[in-house]
Amino acid sequence: MPCKPLLTWYAIHHRDLPWRKTNNPYRIWVSEIMLQQTQVKTVLPRYERWFERFPSMDSLAAASLDDVLKAWEGLGYYRRARFIHAASQHIMTHHQGHFPQLFEEMLALPGIGRSTAGAISSFCFHTATPVLDGNVKRVLKRWQRDEQLNDKQLWHLAQSAIDQADDAGLWNQAMMELGATVCSVRQPDCAACPVSEHCLSSFDVQESIPTKKVVVKDLYWQVCVYQHHDKGIFLQQRPATGVWAGLWTPPLIELPKKPTKKPQHIHLLTHRRLHLYAHTPTNDVDELEGQWFPSLDQIALPTGIHRLFASIHLKL
Ligand code: SF4
Repeated sequence: MPCKPLLTWYAIHHRDLPWRKTNNPYRIWVSEIMLQQTQVKTVLPRYERWFERFPSMDSLAAASLDDVLKAWEGLGYYRRARFIHAASQHIMTHHQGHFPQLFEEMLALPGIGRSTAGAISSFCFHTATPVLDGNVKRVLKRWQRDEQLNDKQLWHLAQSAIDQADDAGLWNQAMMELGATVCSVRQPDCAACPVSEHCLSSFDVQESIPTKKVVVKDLYWQVCVYQHHDKGIFLQQRPATGVWAGLWTPPLIELPKKPTKKPQHIHLLTHRRLHLYAHTPTNDVDELEGQWFPSLDQIALPTGIHRLFASIHLKL
């Protein structure tokens, strides 16, 4: 494995990101979870705000789930926020508030898989544990010029690479950075790549764009906006599973078929396209479960609902 050119390139070209300036496991852990399915530019402002709100493990564990979901607002895939919250409570109970150092103990935490544990462990505790996220998988497959490599083979390759590296954490960072910047999905920049001499796909990358078709289902939702000049807006908490699980929204009614009028907002999720139609009901809310909120400052709303409110110029 071409350790030296990759690490030299990384030392010069790596992006200046805040989670690279710390080896505090709490901070690294939060960054790794945030980055799992969210772009760096979206994570950056929320990362700093997170630590203003939850500066330590115990402050996170003591917070309500609603507060944690609020801090997660805009990052999407809220299941991760629930995992972080549950994991912090587990750490307080079983590890005296210290992030566990043993790899197996990390894996036992909710929301932490082998790759994330590999990252935290190598960055913070200098273990030779590889990362195998989507970027690293792509780089390894291209190096070997073999799109068919399965996860077992990739883990083996990743482990043998890291076993040759002097600094496992640095190696993981460099591999992740190479995949995220130079060896991108659609436009690998082989001319700028530090490992092009060692790569079997150099300047001749085979199609590696995922061909798996995502099935997206259309849903048509009436969003019942109850407003009161004193009480604010009436919201319900979504169930713990399903779309927007655990977040607060106005009462939603699924419409049996596509209305003829245009929705005020269409929100795309991984497997759902939500067509949102704002509706101002005339009945009162006595029969409904939920509560009034004078402002939206303290509660987590899905981005789709925020966008709908913006499109109908609703302000609280
Ligand atoms: S040479 Fe090209 S395909 Fe190979 S790792 Fe570098 S950027 Fe990716």
